Amino acid sequence: MQQKKINFNAGPAPLPAEVLHEASKAIRKYKDTGLSILELPHRGKDFLEIVEECKALVKELCGIGDAYEVLWMQGGGRMQFCMIPMNFLPSGGSAGYIDSGRWAEEALEYATHYGGVEILATSKQSNYSRLPAWPSIVSDALAYVHFTTNNTIYGTQCHHMPETRVPLIADMSSDILSCHRDYTRYSLFYAAVQKNLGAAGLAMVVIRKDMLGRISRSLPPMMSFKEQVKENSILNTANVFGVFVSLLMLRWTKEKGIDAIEKENRKKAHMLYEAIDHSPVFTAHVQEKAHRSLMNVCFTANTLENEKAFIALCDKNNITGIKGHRFVGGFRVSLYNAVSLEDVEFLVELIGKFEKK
Ligand code: PMP
Repeated sequence: MQQKKINFNAGPAPLPAEVLHEASKAIRKYKDTGLSILELPHRGKDFLEIVEECKALVKELCGIGDAYEVLWMQGGGRMQFCMIPMNFLPSGGSAGYIDSGRWAEEALEYATHYGGVEILATSKQSNYSRLPAWPSIVSDALAYVHFTTNNTIYGTQCHHMPETRVPLIADMSSDILSCHRDYTRYSLFYAAVQKNLGAAGLAMVVIRKDMLGRISRSLPPMMSFKEQVKENSILNTANVFGVFVSLLMLRWTKEKGIDAIEKENRKKAHMLYEAIDHSPVFTAHVQEKAHRSLMNVCFTANTLENEKAFIALCDKNNITGIKGHRFVGGFRVSLYNAVSLEDVEFLVELIGKFEKK
């Protein structure tokens, strides 16, 4: 059998071996149901148990109480780009967006279909190689402020949470549960699950209950947070397997603990940035150290020849997923929670060998 690759992809990201093992066991037989998880009825008690355990784990790991609802929604991250303005941006109203990368920009473009959008800050002029400065004044008249905690394509991450008096909404797709964070500061946060939380196609949405009272637009039930909460994420035929894989990821995260996960993530990122910062060949896309992401490390090579040669060397050494996004070029190494320290050490050694050559 072919050896499993070292996977530094930006998403779908690698899943821990234990999670893959449990998921494949459940495909053959789910508990004592006599069914595969793929055949499990979405309105039965077994799936309800999965949904309830997911909710309890999210609340525990994020340190949020019963003031919040937890939803599992289909359509990944982009569906939330639609649902947030549909639900919370009244026509004639305005929402504030922080433009810190392509995903942030796409979120704001989606919002323009429903109401006014104010770009409160942008770092587009520097090809998003730094975080934009948080605006000193945010109007109380805004329906909400949306920002992206980690910019997957460019490798910047917001390590200090901004202050606003209007509801704060965050896309945490690429750094959810990767470090300690005060989640109670958010009125809503969401994450496409394919990085730290499971298999692509779903988004986890956490919404403070009082936000449900702000929905004024008439919406079809599938698009309405109020209806989705009422139906406990089981309005349509749910993605039972996807939610189950997220449950396995949540159990794995709890078992490891956020303390240990954050410590390891910091170590992995530090090792790699150190290697790049001392390299005669490679240069980090993000020079401002305080803006650097622990999850996505973006860098370029000094020549196209070196870029191609390093990709080829990685390929020969069973490493996949390090090619940078086309908006930045070069390389992007994603260090999500399930990427091991050993895999990063191996890559750093390879960088050293490459430079010697
Ligand atoms: N937000 C962020 C920060 C992302 O990294 C991504 C995908 N990489 C998305 C949103 C979009 O997610 P999806 O592809 O599930 O729509």
